Amino acid sequence: MIEVVCICKWRFKVQDEHAGLSIKCPKCRRLVDVPIAPPALIADEEERPELGEQPAPAAFVATADVQALQASIERLVAVNRSINNRLAWVVGLVTLILIRVLLRG
Ligand SMILES: [Zn+2]
Repeated sequence: MIEVVCICKWRFKVQDEHAGLSIKCPKCRRLVDVPIAPPALIADEEERPELGEQPAPAAFVATADVQALQASIERLVAVNRSINNRLAWVVGLVTLILIRVLLRG
């Protein structure tokens, strides 16, 4: 349900499916625009002077940061893994060469 406030100050509730449409006020019969978001949220946003302080974009940024962090961690882990593989391979090869050299010598 969405709460609608008419110009005549009459508050009434309409079904969510009427969001974004105009509905007749049951008291004065005038057409009232039904908000898409609940009026409480819209009033809340209007009270904030700066756009940057809205919690929704901040949460979005935080999510993006976490995703970026996860991506960079995954990249680091992948790089480390390939370095370790290469290192193990090189160490193995050097050991083999050393063993051969020692056996020949
Ligand atoms: Zn009204």
